[in-house]
Amino acid sequence: MEAYNPPDFYNIDELLNEEQRMIQNSVRQFVTNEIIPHIEDWFVAGEFPKQLIPQIAELGLLGSTIKGYGCAGLDYTSYGLIMQELERGDSGLRSFVSVQGALCMYPIATFGTEDQKKKYLPKMATGEVIGCFGLTEPDFGSNPAGMRTNVKSDGDHWVLNGNKMWITNGGISQLAIVWAKSEQGKVIGLIVDRDLKGFTVRDIEKKYSLRASVTSELIFEDCRVPKKNQLQVEGFKGPFSCLNQARYGIGWGAIGAAQACYTEALEYAKHRVQFDKPIAGFQLVQAKLVWMFTEITKAQLLCWKLGKMKDAGKEIPQQISMAKMNNVSLALDIARTARDILGASGITHEYQCGRHMMNLESVNTYEGTEDIHRLILGEHITGIPAYK
Ligand SMILES: Cc1cc2nc3c(=O)[nH]c(=O)nc-3n(C[C@H](O)[C@H](O)[C@H](O)COP(=O)(O)OP(=O)(O)OC[C@H]3O[C@@H](n4cnc5c(N)ncnc54)[C@H](O)[C@@H]3O)c2cc1C
Repeated sequence: MEAYNPPDFYNIDELLNEEQRMIQNSVRQFVTNEIIPHIEDWFVAGEFPKQLIPQIAELGLLGSTIKGYGCAGLDYTSYGLIMQELERGDSGLRSFVSVQGALCMYPIATFGTEDQKKKYLPKMATGEVIGCFGLTEPDFGSNPAGMRTNVKSDGDHWVLNGNKMWITNGGISQLAIVWAKSEQGKVIGLIVDRDLKGFTVRDIEKKYSLRASVTSELIFEDCRVPKKNQLQVEGFKGPFSCLNQARYGIGWGAIGAAQACYTEALEYAKHRVQFDKPIAGFQLVQAKLVWMFTEITKAQLLCWKLGKMKDAGKEIPQQISMAKMNNVSLALDIARTARDILGASGITHEYQCGRHMMNLESVNTYEGTEDIHRLILGEHITGIPAYK
């Protein structure tokens, strides 16, 4: 396939070091060769391409910022670039890598005991063990504080009961990171092995979004989890710190989807002739393309600076909220505008903007909806929480 050259109007590329550029190029090539030619078929069939897991692992993309335990130990700008390139292919593919790394390996690396790290991380880095992350419940999405999933102590086990809903990777996972309330009302995190009795998974079918990604319900009925599988963290600090990691990657990832849609719309507009000239020659179409191009450039700069702050350990969660909220929202609008520029052609799987548009609807909702991030920022600048 032809090499892909995404828009980079403010030369972000020259700000990257040799290693970052190399990582970006290898993931870009992987996406061009292994994802783009097949993704529409996987999406239509509602299939996650499990066969690519070994290659994804071989590229060092699983838990890529973790040091040791077979992980690549990359900086956060490299991690962001990986997410951007993957999501240029498909948000479902990026979701798979985000969940494995930021939502499952990160809590084990950060809050796990040495035994847990040694047992799980190396196999998760090679993709032999896939994880999923269970926070959301059927009745508690934006407000996880209400969660009903609970544990009761019984000797050296926790007895886990409850349901987790909309869980990415659920049906293909060998373990779940599950957040539950103790009898004292404290939130704890457990590594729940998939083969434990009382743990069942039901895949959610008939999705119109993230079709090349597995989304499931996790059901726990008197599931006995050894206490040695408990993470060393208490309260919402546990799940929220994982979500921050993932949201950071999503901010970058959305740029990839936006770039794919913009590039497609530009190419189409240059070749589609109406009223005797390419539609790219009409002012209204140019205005749409210029808007997309400008928003992508602004999003790139936002993420580049956020990456620098994250590498220095100086970012705050609200800055991550801004990147997630802004970049996903604009990527969704860019996908919709690209679809508009493609006219009727934009509704078919011959083009990618429709698929990205449907995917981005989920991305806008998960990991904190656009509204919730706006409320997080609202509280930050006014000091007044407005969630209730
Ligand atoms: C494809 C997919 C994959 C997912 N993967 C995972 C996963 O791996 N693990 C996991 O734990 N969860 C996952 N989720 C769940 C996701 O995090 C939730 O969907 C999300 O948190 C929103 O919750 P909800 O869907 O219950 O919507 P609700 O919380 O019911 O929100 C519905 C609407 O109300 C708005 N709203 C809610 N509260 C307020 C308020 N206070 N003020 C203003 N507006 C408000 C929201 O912004 C939204 O527009 C996934 C979801 C999807 C779609």
